[in-house]
Order: sequence, then structure tokens, then C-alpha cells
Amino acid sequence: MKIARVETFLVRWGDLSQPVEAGLGAATAVVAIHADGMVGYGEASPMQGGVASLAVVARDMAPTLIGTDVLDHAVTVDRLLHKLIKLGPDGIVTGALAAVDIALWDLKGKAFRQPIHKLLGGAWRLRLPFYASIGGNAARDVDGVVRTVEARLRAEQPSAIKIRWDGTRSEIDRDIAGDIAKAKAVRRLVGDGYPLAFDANNRYSIGAAIRVGRALEELGYIWFEEPVEYYHFKAMGEVAQRLDITVSAGEQCYTLQSVAALIDSGVRMVQPDIVKMGGVTGLMQCAALCHAHGVEFVPHQTQPSIGNAANLQVLSTVMHATKPAELADGWSRVADTFVDAPRPEGGCLAVPDGPGLGLTIDEAMLARRRVDLAG
Ligand code: CA
Repeated sequence: MKIARVETFLVRWGDLSQPVEAGLGAATAVVAIHADGMVGYGEASPMQGGVASLAVVARDMAPTLIGTDVLDHAVTVDRLLHKLIKLGPDGIVTGALAAVDIALWDLKGKAFRQPIHKLLGGAWRLRLPFYASIGGNAARDVDGVVRTVEARLRAEQPSAIKIRWDGTRSEIDRDIAGDIAKAKAVRRLVGDGYPLAFDANNRYSIGAAIRVGRALEELGYIWFEEPVEYYHFKAMGEVAQRLDITVSAGEQCYTLQSVAALIDSGVRMVQPDIVKMGGVTGLMQCAALCHAHGVEFVPHQTQPSIGNAANLQVLSTVMHATKPAELADGWSRVADTFVDAPRPEGGCLAVPDGPGLGLTIDEAMLARRRVDLAG
């Protein structure tokens, strides 16, 4: 089952009558790998549109991939990582490899006519509770936050909600009292007992994180995500160890070794992302690492088509799922192209059970939304 062709392209979302650039803000960076008349789809990390990762796939990975056996895929992926290790490894290269890995698993599933979760050893569950991940709250006032959360609650009926701060990454400790006021207002809206999480997006010092964390404990929030800068592993571990609330991090880890360092620092819930680190293979390795350490494995995921389907395939195989799966803002944008992409239903997402990723693609729409990169 030899790889015959490797394609890389963006899929732009939104109104097709608008200029191309308008639809690239939340684009999907796709790697399509052809073998034996079949095609497998993978997705790269969307940071800066995923353009850099696609360039690495096209220029540096495709020549090695062509002619290799799809079923030798773990060897191929490790060979590519070590060939390109001085480009990172974190970031562009691992985002590119994640896309290649997901595409190869999609192909393997199609070849064996089985969903990926069957090839991984089977699913514990085929419906996974999800949480609505609601971003942009640094820029809203208290009322704006409450209205935004209320709208998502009504529209999606999630099993839990996470409010994300986003905001300017070069600022920390900007409005601690205001942040706590927003957390309180959301608790008042949903009532006691409803599962809530708070994502600081790395915007506190250690002291501020402890103060906000104590407030979240009082308010019954169930996790506190990325309180401090992701690159300050010791600081993240210190906050995790000093607070009672579960502190999480890891969406900016691009290697298994980086997740191990985070666990070593004291973080007890990690959130690797399938389109950033290792694809299906990498996420399974993370699941094993977490299981070995008794650490909660709760992947980050914001990409509603290929990324989400791949993530759900892996999550379904994890025995101890302690938190819901992430469903980020704007998930419905892919619906006319990925026609059966998982969508909210009774607080859950169904794990696709068709071959490979289990996604059905409207090829005509994909062609219309496809943007080929120059060079
Ligand atoms: Ca986050």
C-alpha cells in the first residue's frame, strides 16, 4: 500500500462570495495522502493558519513519504521527526507530522474498512459528553460574558462550560478583580453544581494565579487552565501544587517529552492537542504516559472537522475519561463540507463509526473552499 501522492491545501470557511483572505481566519490546514486509489485526510495545527506546517509537509516530508508503505507509518513518522528535528522539534514540524499521522490513520482505517478506534483496540464509549469552550471573555464586560454563555447554553446544551480569557498575550495580571467578577457572574447564571472551568490563557503571575484559583475553588469551578505562561513549567507546577482546584496545561506541548516535563513539574491534568503533537499516535502515547502517572488526560481541541473527529476516535479508547471533550467556538462553520462532522446532541458528541476518521466530505464543496498555497 504505497503512498502515491501528497497534497497540502487550506480550506477557507465563511461566505464564498467574500475575498479569499476573509475566509482564512479560521481555515483548516489539510494534508491529503493518496494510496491504492484511496485518500486519507489529516489536519495540521492552525497556528498562523497552519501555512508553515503545510510548507514543511510539501517541501521536506512529501519526498520521503512518496513510495513508502502506509502500514509502515510509525517508522516513517519517527524518521521524519528525526530528519527535521533541528527545525524545532516543537511547533511547525510536529504540527506537520500530526497532519501526516492523522492522514495515514485515516488511510489505514479506509483500507481495513474500520473506524480508527477499532484499529486502536476498541472504544469504551461511542458518545462522549462535551463542554462548550467559550473564548474572548477578556474583551467583554460582566454582562457581555453572561449573555455569551447564556446563548451557548441555550443553543448547544453542553455537559459543561469553559470560559476562556484570550486577550493580549504580552500582558499579565491586567484585571484580577474583574476576572473574578466574571467567574462569579457565570456561576450565578448556571447555578450551583453545573460543571464550570476557567481558562486564563497564561495571563497571570504566580501570586495572581493563586488568588484567582482560591476564588474559583470557592465558586466550585472544576478546573483552572493555564494560569501562568506555558513556558514556565516550574511556575505552572507550583500553582498546581498549591491550589486545591485541578490546574491543567499542555495544549502548547508539542512533544511527548514536553508533556512528561509538565507532569514532572506537578501538573496533574494535561491537555495535549492531536493537531499539534503526534496525531493519533502521539495522543495515544500521551494517554499511556498519563495513565502511568495517574494524571488526567483531557485533550485540547478547537478544530471542528478532521481534528475533532481524530480526537474523538482517540478519546473513545481511553478508559478513564474524567472530563468532557472540548467543542470550541464556531464549530458549525464546516457543516456544508464535512457533512457529518460531530455536532452537539443531548450534551454529547457521537464518535464517527465509518472507516478511518469516519468523515463524509462533500467533494464539490471542498473543491470550492480549497485554497492552494503558492510554491
Ligand atoms: Ca486553553
